[in-house]
Amino acid sequence: DTFLEIDLGECLKENIKRCKYVKPTPVQRHAIPIAMAGRDLMACAQTGSGKTAAFCFPIINGVLKNGVERSPACAGDRAVCPTALILSPTRELAGQIHDEAKKFGYQSGVKIVVAYGGAPISQQLRMLERGCDILVATPGRLVDMIERSRVSLRNVKYLALDEADRMLDMGFEPQIRRIVEQMDMPCSGARQTLLFSATFPDEIQRLAADFLLNYIFLTV
Ligand code: AMP
Repeated sequence: DTFLEIDLGECLKENIKRCKYVKPTPVQRHAIPIAMAGRDLMACAQTGSGKTAAFCFPIINGVLKNGVERSPACAGDRAVCPTALILSPTRELAGQIHDEAKKFGYQSGVKIVVAYGGAPISQQLRMLERGCDILVATPGRLVDMIERSRVSLRNVKYLALDEADRMLDMGFEPQIRRIVEQMDMPCSGARQTLLFSATFPDEIQRLAADFLLNYIFLTV
């Protein structure tokens, strides 16, 4: 019952060790193998459950398998094309996810960028221009970047929605739907979606029905 038993890449395993994670939390124990098997997932997870690692480990692992050098190679335009997108309701949570993801992706070559509202967009755009495999974003700021043609979601293979119920409470449903529509272009290929939420009202069930395919519902 340790992370070493999970088939994660060597670099990720090293970083997990460096973070002093030994034993997976319940949500990690179940969500990571499901996500690594390529399944869509709707998971019940409270703050403090270890949900960040539960979606970051399979995403970083998958991005590394896809080959990081391919991610920014959307030749011919200014838009950066991340392989993975993590949506978060608030700037604070986005910042926390970004900080954790960077630790998990340390020295792996995976480029992780954060974008949120309430801060100047120019600096975030400069970070994006250096390449981005995994984008952690709040919905409003991401829509802005898409409208400016600075981000394209056509290569997204992994989508995680963190605290989905909070995003809906904050009125982000139209933005989230616009964002996910960008990934349903014919050229986008298959996408894996991981939805994390503390509660499961009808609106979340509808979102899951619309965004997830043959998904597994996990409550721990
Ligand atoms: P989260 O629910 O993702 O916000 O995580 C809550 C806290 O638990 C964070 O400080 C994590 O760094 C920590 N954490 C998550 N998973 C583990 C684990 N398997 N072992 C030790 N600490 C962990």
